[in-house]
Amino acid sequence: EDTRDLLLSRIRDVADYPKPGVVFKDITPLLADPVAFTALTDELSGICERHGATKIVGLEARGFILAAPVAVRSGIGFVPVRKAGKLPGATLSQAYELEYGTAEIEVHAEDLGAGDRVMVIDDVLATGGTAEASLDLIRRAGADVAGVAVLMELTFLGGRARLDGALRGAPLDAL
Ligand code: 5GP
Repeated sequence: EDTRDLLLSRIRDVADYPKPGVVFKDITPLLADPVAFTALTDELSGICERHGATKIVGLEARGFILAAPVAVRSGIGFVPVRKAGKLPGATLSQAYELEYGTAEIEVHAEDLGAGDRVMVIDDVLATGGTAEASLDLIRRAGADVAGVAVLMELTFLGGRARLDGALRGAPLDAL
């Protein structure tokens, strides 16, 4: 529909970034267009409210940019999930597999707990590894998963299938 077409038209394909053979989906044109950014924020807020989210997790770094205005718009708290070593307080950490090697993400332990229903927001779902690890973190913190919402899903990378088990029936929304 119209909003989806507008949003997709503001995502730029950058060939051979960050390495040869990869087509990177660049969301900066969307962020620079206030009509598109507002429309995206409204869409994501609607998803969070439909799924009864009481907290929003944004995944570093572009997930922060999308999730923060949604949290303000919906009147619920924002919680950053960061790459290891960036958060100053007591953290929970989760390692996960990349194509080559491993990565680790963290959250402040005190930011999530029993009674929270958490929506995860990121810009792009690629292999699903980052989102999957974030769901593990949320559950280890004692919170429930309301769902995962991304602007765009790179379907050829199979992220939805990788996430399926970790979602445990929670919805994955991609625009
Ligand atoms: P995954 O763990 O799903 O393989 O990778 C997802 C992470 O990498 C996300 O945090 C996402 O921001 C980033 N990412 C991977 N590919 C792209 C891309 O083509 N465009 C953008 N904007 N982010 C990407």
